[in-house]
Amino acid sequence: MKLRVGHLYPEYLNIYADRGNIAVLSRRAELHGHTLEVEALGVGDDVSPRAQDLFYVGGGQDREQAAIAPDLAAKGPAIIESVANGAALLAVCGGYQLLGRGYRGRDGSFMPGVGLFPHETVAGTTRMIGDVLLECELVPGERRTVAGFENHAGRTLLDHSAEPLGRVLHGFGNDGESGFEGCRVERALGTYLHGPLLPRNPWLADWLLAQALAHATSGEPPVFTEQPDALAAEAHRVAAARAKARGGRR
Ligand code: GLN
Repeated sequence: MKLRVGHLYPEYLNIYADRGNIAVLSRRAELHGHTLEVEALGVGDDVSPRAQDLFYVGGGQDREQAAIAPDLAAKGPAIIESVANGAALLAVCGGYQLLGRGYRGRDGSFMPGVGLFPHETVAGTTRMIGDVLLECELVPGERRTVAGFENHAGRTLLDHSAEPLGRVLHGFGNDGESGFEGCRVERALGTYLHGPLLPRNPWLADWLLAQALAHATSGEPPVFTEQPDALAAEAHRVAAARAKARGGRR
């Protein structure tokens, strides 16, 4: 099948080569017999609610976020409708912050967000930097770890009813206090983790592709046959070991 991917602001939000996540999605889609059709969605481009099976937005610094925030907020209702209709989404760091209700930067200015994720973000005086290891359970009964790298001043506070992406085993996570990292709303995931994220966590790429296929077929997410990748497994192992060496939370 052809999966339609909307890549939001590739030229602005691509810190730590977050674009690499798209390369992994493409490669793994091919391994499973599918193809990815990636459309860049930039400032002024329309988002039509049924046109994408998967949205992707990367991270960026406050300056880049400020450049696209009003446009992203204008695309917000179509993105929210798409996710409500079963589209998948992955948002990293700066993109994750702006898909919540908003981000208050270090200079005190407030960037209104999309309101897809039930959270708010406020920049702190220190940055939270380092390798991170999470434990996630996206499929009930299937616990998996996610390894990545975080670097953010923003503290993201989830609403009490919000579902995090995972529990922090090592690292800071959303706010350095709660023990939670990221957020999930239906098939939409937000996270602070770069790396880029998916080369170290191919199972997560497969989860997203399965959700996108479910949207494309109006069916259930398929269960893929395992496609082991020795290099990705090694990348996960090394990143997880670095996160563990960093110690517990904080
Ligand atoms: N500007 C945001 C912060 O520092 C996001 C940074 C990022 O995307 N790495 O909190």
